[in-house]
Amino acid sequence: MNQKNYLYFCRPILSRVNKQMDYIIPFKGLSIGSHLFNFEIGETFFESFDYFESERGKLTVNLELVKESALMNLFFKLEGNISLKCDRCLMMYNQHIAGEFMLIVKFGDAFTEESDEVIVLPVTESTIDVRQFIFEYINLLLPIKRSHPDETDCDQKMIEKLHNFSKQETDPRWDGLKNIQLD
Ligand SMILES: [Zn+2]
Repeated sequence: MNQKNYLYFCRPILSRVNKQMDYIIPFKGLSIGSHLFNFEIGETFFESFDYFESERGKLTVNLELVKESALMNLFFKLEGNISLKCDRCLMMYNQHIAGEFMLIVKFGDAFTEESDEVIVLPVTESTIDVRQFIFEYINLLLPIKRSHPDETDCDQKMIEKLHNFSKQETDPRWDGLKNIQLD
């Protein structure tokens, strides 16, 4: 019975930890040369971050880790879709994103970020967690202007509503509309 309770309480925690462990690469055991890793990113990834503007997305991340004797080069290739809110009609739409990033990992006394592309890991370190890097790259790939690629896919009724609302918002007769939930 105790065993059962133990499993019941621990399983969700364990699975969450394992999901995050998936992004930890034990590089010490890798041979000199190129190694390929593949990550399928979905909702559990986004939910594991306290703040992200979208909880839905599906991305593939291909990582080539090239290990040299004194440093490592990591090449990330990201591609997929993220659900974002359209600036025009406020509805969610699928934003395609794709990009490549490089990270040079050097070794030294303590962890430091020399630049966006160069980090230093303590020589005693044997693993690297790429989760945070992937998250930052996704953020860098998000466009500043977000909208349905095809304007005809926008919710036309909502656009009309928003248009009328902004036109009338200084008219006191429309004050009641200010509390309307547009979602
Ligand atoms: Zn739209």
